[in-house]
Amino acid sequence: MIAREAALDALSSDTFDLVVVGGGITGAGVALDAAARGYSVALVEKADYAAGTSSRSSKLVHGGLRYLQNFDLGLVREALLERQLLVTLAPHLVRPLRLVVPAFESARPDRLVGVGLNLYDVMSVDKLRGRLRRRDDDSSWSPDRHRVITGEEVVELLPALAGRQPTSGYLFYDCQTDDVRLVFTVLGEAERFGAVMANRVEVTDLVPEGVRAVDRESGDDFVIRAANVVNATGVWADRLRPDELHDEAEVPTIRPSRGTHVTVSSEAVPLVAGAIVPAGGGRSIFALPWLGRTLLGTTDNDYEGDLDHIPADPADVDYILDAANAFFGRDLTPDEITGAYAGVRPLISTGDPKKSVDISRKAELYETSSGMITITGGKLTTFRRMAKMAVDRLVEREARDAPCRTHEIPLGLPVDPDDLRRVEGVPDDSYRALAARYGFAAHDVLRVAAERGELAQPVVDGLPDLLAEVAFAARREQALTVGDVLLRRTRLGLLAARELDDGPARRVAAALGAERGWDGPRIEAEVDRWRAESTAEGLVVRTETRPQ
Ligand SMILES: Cc1cc2nc3c(=O)[nH]c(=O)nc-3n(C[C@H](O)[C@H](O)[C@H](O)COP(=O)(O)OP(=O)(O)OC[C@H]3O[C@@H](n4cnc5c(N)ncnc54)[C@H](O)[C@@H]3O)c2cc1C
Repeated sequence: MIAREAALDALSSDTFDLVVVGGGITGAGVALDAAARGYSVALVEKADYAAGTSSRSSKLVHGGLRYLQNFDLGLVREALLERQLLVTLAPHLVRPLRLVVPAFESARPDRLVGVGLNLYDVMSVDKLRGRLRRRDDDSSWSPDRHRVITGEEVVELLPALAGRQPTSGYLFYDCQTDDVRLVFTVLGEAERFGAVMANRVEVTDLVPEGVRAVDRESGDDFVIRAANVVNATGVWADRLRPDELHDEAEVPTIRPSRGTHVTVSSEAVPLVAGAIVPAGGGRSIFALPWLGRTLLGTTDNDYEGDLDHIPADPADVDYILDAANAFFGRDLTPDEITGAYAGVRPLISTGDPKKSVDISRKAELYETSSGMITITGGKLTTFRRMAKMAVDRLVEREARDAPCRTHEIPLGLPVDPDDLRRVEGVPDDSYRALAARYGFAAHDVLRVAAERGELAQPVVDGLPDLLAEVAFAARREQALTVGDVLLRRTRLGLLAARELDDGPARRVAAALGAERGWDGPRIEAEVDRWRAESTAEGLVVRTETRPQ
């Protein structure tokens, strides 16, 4: 990614075919799709890339087994095909994950779940691609059919269940990712096709020449000249030109609903595969192995607070812990939570909460009189389809001959961790983690690690993330704050929130400061800023601060 300053120069002086508002997965996808079709593209993000819902998901690239309950067959089928494509386009980033639905006390595994899994299997098969694929081509993942497994196999996959002696279970397959890294990887590809992007630039209005924007770092106001505008601002979508959207496209008021997740150590809840955990009232949560921790969630409750910082809800945290404790036979307390986060999905408010509709799963495209195209809803998994929908509309109204190409554009490049050059001081575990996070660009991170001994050190002792990643994030990924690094360039804020307060946060601030020319007081101010952000995000859950 080019430096932010250079991007700002280009944004304020060049003229673009398209400006994309919003740097989550949808905006990133639109930027890539349009740039690959020959459009000159600008993208701006008011906070940091992926700072919205795209860093706060369950990290699954999946069809969504539970949507089958509502007979959303088209939606599930579409997501399953996208899942298949993403594993092929980004094998280092979108990885197959085994999931288990256990049964106990010799009960048969739930037959309804079995019916759903049969459908899931059938819909996973892309017949055309299957036919076209050469037999010796093993580059493409093809999930096995689900099957019933024995109690012993369940325990092998879910060691945390050993005490409950499961007697059988269903095994099926989905995929998992690091949502933020997916956004950065798609943005990186968009840039390869010429897109120009900057974070901390907020679009405040549409103007005849394009959009008016403000640089949130300097406060400078400027116009980005562009023939077309795509509004990819997720749950903020109805805040840009609200009258136009509500009156012309009849977009109902978006009422956010909060989903909370927590992480705990893999010793507390050891998992090799993911599990579907019953949570009462016919609802369930996921328990997933993720980046060396166990990720538990999610929930779904009304939220009326600040959209820029969405803390985990204490009641939701209790609900998640209760479900996990009952299922795994554990006694987890809030003090054992290694990190908590929450995100919002858009619901259409009808005024009557019982009748509000979840639009988050369905992609919606609105075109209004200013020409702005708003694309919202959908899933992380289906971002490519959403982007295609928006750019197809642009191409159609401009009568261009520019077919979508994103189904054949690799997202990053995988690398074998064993092929990475060894750098003195870099812990063994880091090579695998770097390869999974950056793919081939891990070589570049290691080049930074080799510059100075301290950059080869981990940010948090015992975890693989390196201080070199901080310098790399500042130079190549427009990271400006400690929070940018701890929440998004790495995921330490979600995985080790309690350990970051002093030493690691200061180490990150110092490494950022070395890149950005900060003096001692500025470094301290940035550490304080991180503490405030960590509190606003509710990353650390404390028993004593919670209502009784
Ligand atoms: C709890 C939860 C769990 C989920 N789990 C999954 C899952 O496991 N798998 C899956 O496929 N999907 C999942 N989803 C859905 C998925 O996360 C979202 O569909 C997706 O991240 C939405 O991306 P987006 O780019 O549309 O929105 P966002 O990621 O919110 O991006 C919008 C961006 O626009 C920026 N912005 C807003 N206004 C402006 C402005 N005026 N100027 C400039 N920028 C602006 C914001 O700062 C933000 O970064 C989950 C959703 C939730 C809430």
